[in-house]
Amino acid sequence: VDLPIHEAVLGRAAEFGSTPALIDGTDGTTLTYEQLDRFHRRVAAGLAEAGVRKGDVLALHSPNTIAFPTAFYAATRAGASVTTVHPLATPEEFAKQLRDCAARWIVTVSPLLDSARRAAELAGCVREIFVCDSASGHRSLIDMLASTAPEPAVGIDPAEDVAALPYSSGTTGIPKGVMLTHRQIATNLAQLQPAITAGPGDRVLAVLPFFHIYGLTALMNAPLRHGATVVVLPRFDLEQFLAAVQNHRITALYVAPPIVLALAKHPLVAEYDLSSLKYVISAAAPLDAHLAAACARRLGLPPVGQAYGMTELSPGTHVVPLDLMEEAPPGTVGKLIAGTEMRIVSLDDPGKDLGPGESGEILIRGPQVMKGYLGRPDATAAMIDEDGWLHTGDVGHADDDGWLFVVDRVKELIKYKGFQVAPAELEALLLTHPGVADAAVIGVYNEDGNEVPHAFVVRHPSAPDLTEGEVMLHVAERVAPYKRVRHVTFIDGVPRAASGKILRRELRAAHKEPS
Ligand code: ATP
Ligand code: MG
Repeated sequence: VDLPIHEAVLGRAAEFGSTPALIDGTDGTTLTYEQLDRFHRRVAAGLAEAGVRKGDVLALHSPNTIAFPTAFYAATRAGASVTTVHPLATPEEFAKQLRDCAARWIVTVSPLLDSARRAAELAGCVREIFVCDSASGHRSLIDMLASTAPEPAVGIDPAEDVAALPYSSGTTGIPKGVMLTHRQIATNLAQLQPAITAGPGDRVLAVLPFFHIYGLTALMNAPLRHGATVVVLPRFDLEQFLAAVQNHRITALYVAPPIVLALAKHPLVAEYDLSSLKYVISAAAPLDAHLAAACARRLGLPPVGQAYGMTELSPGTHVVPLDLMEEAPPGTVGKLIAGTEMRIVSLDDPGKDLGPGESGEILIRGPQVMKGYLGRPDATAAMIDEDGWLHTGDVGHADDDGWLFVVDRVKELIKYKGFQVAPAELEALLLTHPGVADAAVIGVYNEDGNEVPHAFVVRHPSAPDLTEGEVMLHVAERVAPYKRVRHVTFIDGVPRAASGKILRRELRAAHKEPS
């Protein structure tokens, strides 16, 4: 796919005309395809007029709003590389990202303006802050709509030019800027097509953040490319989410495991009419097969499908194609998408390829493998070997038919007396206890020097008296002795990243410094 991302996505926008492209799920404000097409071109002209040039990095700092895609595609049309920023980042975190990628421009929203100003001050590389809505003293995207400047004529080389510069989630270390070219993102969109049927008449709910590559792809680029309608929510609030599904007759949900958990277990779900839903897809973190089944059963839907990927893979490599949702084996993250190769290699002997059913590290090669980490040649070389294989750091195995199962990250595996225990497996098991609302597991060292599983458990409101002993017994009855949970701490909530991943390092820190 050799088009700049804004062309690859909005190439048919004019054809979709008065179809709503985006609807604000909080107040119903609508943007049609014709408007999205016209607005992003005008804003591109406005940005160019303000000085944005090819190769500049522009930081897009906004929760999900209906203006987000306009800002994104306008920036790429003006030739910029867009680095998306977590709207809740502190000014210090934001400044670090700005400095890391030498960003020259910020697009923010007025409620976040103070934080953006402070970050720009700290970073020292930003020339101007624009706002999506309006705020005194700043040029706004709304002003730019009136720009009479010609559309910028920037020559974009889809194979080389960086369209997006998302930062990885920082689950395992410091977030790294991931350089994704126009071609990588556009190609991956086409490759992921079998898991996306959204077209005119379909409505997807954008509750996962656009700033993360999963939301950017599944909730923005993919549905807009096909003429579907995206209903936008600024954050996940279960009631608001359920009301939006009901009131906007949402047809497809692309979510992360915590939302599947809520859909499977939360009493509120029963109070809403969710009959418009055709399917639910989960990605970004391990999803247990029982939980997926419970969610699907409760909603009367086909099994929850999964997809697998990472920021460095633009982001996808595996999906459960929509036409195979019924026959996909429970727990699979899907089959390899077209044009992509996979190897599974031994954890002890990395040169050794493993066969079906054997677990090892997942290696990927394909057109969606990132260009590299920005300014980190060593980290890039550690990730992508000389033959172009990207080492995912994830452990998995595939069956004879090519269905992939992700076990956990290599780094998270708990090594107990030579055995390996996947926290994700224990977390899934803990969630099958009716008294457990949520759970996370980390490895901790016992006095005898062995690493053992330690569970952090959130009690379900219906089980305020759930004890450590009951939790440990529930697991012990269902696993081999070496996998038993040895300690339990009850907590109020599991810390998670915006993409739904458990922040085990926060639990580790809390474990070391009990308050
Ligand atoms: P960092 O690399 O900065 O530590 P991160 O790896 O969490 O952060 P992302 O790129 O957002 O950043 O996440 C990719 C990871 O998410 C994968 O490596 C994998 O561990 C996990 N993941 C994605 N999809 C799935 C899935 N369907 N099942 C299990 N794990 C998944
Ligand atoms: Mg990662």
